[in-house]
Amino acid sequence: MPAMQAEADAARAAGRRLALVPTLGALHAGHLALVREARERVGPDGHVTVSIFVNPTQFGPGEDFAAYPRTMDADLDLLAHLADPERGDAGVNVVFAPTPETMYPFGLPPYAMVSVRDLDRHLCGAHRPGHFAGVTTVVAKLFLACRPHLAVFGQKDAQQLAILRRMTDDLGFGIELVGHPIVREADGLALSSRNAYLSPEERAQAVVLSQALRAAEASVALGARDAAAIRGAMASQFATVPLARVQYIEIVDADTLQPVDTLSAESPSEGRYLAALAVHFGTTRLIDNTTLVVGK
Ligand code: AMP
Repeated sequence: MPAMQAEADAARAAGRRLALVPTLGALHAGHLALVREARERVGPDGHVTVSIFVNPTQFGPGEDFAAYPRTMDADLDLLAHLADPERGDAGVNVVFAPTPETMYPFGLPPYAMVSVRDLDRHLCGAHRPGHFAGVTTVVAKLFLACRPHLAVFGQKDAQQLAILRRMTDDLGFGIELVGHPIVREADGLALSSRNAYLSPEERAQAVVLSQALRAAEASVALGARDAAAIRGAMASQFATVPLARVQYIEIVDADTLQPVDTLSAESPSEGRYLAALAVHFGTTRLIDNTTLVVGK
């Protein structure tokens, strides 16, 4: 931690802009897109840190903390390939891969945690108690260690991004949070480190998540405003995928993350909603979402 802080302080003292991309590792093209976005935002003279840390406090009992893929050598290789010496682009300046003892020096559970109220009541928060407190705690610690001007997160974890925005603003970190669009496979499946767990049959059927989101978008485009009807259009996609078990299909206001009955332009988020779902294939849990916008 002190070495990372010293590096960040030196970069700040040199007038460079610092960006942070927090990850759990097992990197894929979605993560790399976030890193490229970070580099674009800080420029060739900027300083980009990628953190790789499988954070124990965001996994619940019975979740996949022990089994979570750890592929450090391959991750470092992928990040090294982002460098483009001809353009004077280092790709990534620092890979920060702390041990649990570094991040949690007083043991687990930590004495001090950061949590954000209310925004974790629905979606994944309803099914993963304590998960978002683990996320906000580790990201607050990463902010303190890496001292970035901006941090890039994926819209793939939309609830996480909304919660982190609220934490950052409420605690006054003074860090800009950038949301990067979801990176998908050719058939629409959102890239995820957990896709590696899927059998070939499950992988084929996993396209249903993005199909359900397209169904939600289509029904809103056709004029649907009743959330139950839109959720029904999403659920109907699951008729032909026997390996999928839906955990939730929800439509929430994009700012408050509270469920709604009717979509309208006069809402806290001025007509922006999140359609989101979580689906199990065997023991693998996949999530996906899209933003629905309704005008006046
Ligand atoms: P993770 O390692 O799964 O915690 O992800 C690290 C960051 O990458 C988070 O901000 C995720 O939202 C983001 N991310 C993961 N998958 C994707 C994807 N398919 N598209 C865009 N961002 C992603």
